[in-house]
Amino acid sequence: MRKTYIFIFAGGIFLALAFLFFIVGKSTEGQGAHLYRNSDANISKINLTVFYTVPKDKMPYDFETVMASLEPALEEASAFHSLQFVDKSWIQYSIYPTVLKLERDSFFYDTEDTSRGNPNALASITEEIKDNNLIVEKKGEFTVLGIIYEGLGAAGALSEDSKLGSFILSRDFITREEYVLSRSALLYHEFGHTLGIPDLYDLDTGEAFTSDIMGGGRQEPLEANYIEISTLKEMGVL
Ligand SMILES: [Zn+2]
Repeated sequence: MRKTYIFIFAGGIFLALAFLFFIVGKSTEGQGAHLYRNSDANISKINLTVFYTVPKDKMPYDFETVMASLEPALEEASAFHSLQFVDKSWIQYSIYPTVLKLERDSFFYDTEDTSRGNPNALASITEEIKDNNLIVEKKGEFTVLGIIYEGLGAAGALSEDSKLGSFILSRDFITREEYVLSRSALLYHEFGHTLGIPDLYDLDTGEAFTSDIMGGGRQEPLEANYIEISTLKEMGVL
């Protein structure tokens, strides 16, 4: 009699495990996250390369000092990403090992208008890095380019063909004392745009529509941040 109970009990556990394996396993298996509102563009693995770039007419800031702040910011941003995307997307980052001296003077990159985060510098420096074959693309991975700029900048964008994301962030945001608590959030905010995620605040007044990382949270420490559920749903996470 006792043996029968043990047998039924073991059989029950087996069925439960089989159920979990097939039903739960299948629902997450092979379904990585994707770009915002673009289910064809998988972002299970993101290959991010970050450059510290300096226009020809500018003096670079101390490279070791920039790295000492950039490395922890990237580490925090990458941990935040894995957590928010419940491991359906990972960032693998690397930092270009020296200062990247740009070919032109600041004026060329900045043009006359540096408002709205200096998108001109973002576009022209992205082109320059691409033209110099400094982007290593890895098969099956989504490529993102991070530009720390000796000048003004805070912007992120996705290329028209949705193949390359790139963001720019002023070196000031990385090294200056007043940004110590918010620098990784600012970095992640701009990185978020490279995946197609839109701003969730009013660009003219600064008024936030949400308190997540794409809204008011961009100026708050990353450990207190989150990504809106509605955004994650548009990226195949939930
Ligand atoms: Zn933004």
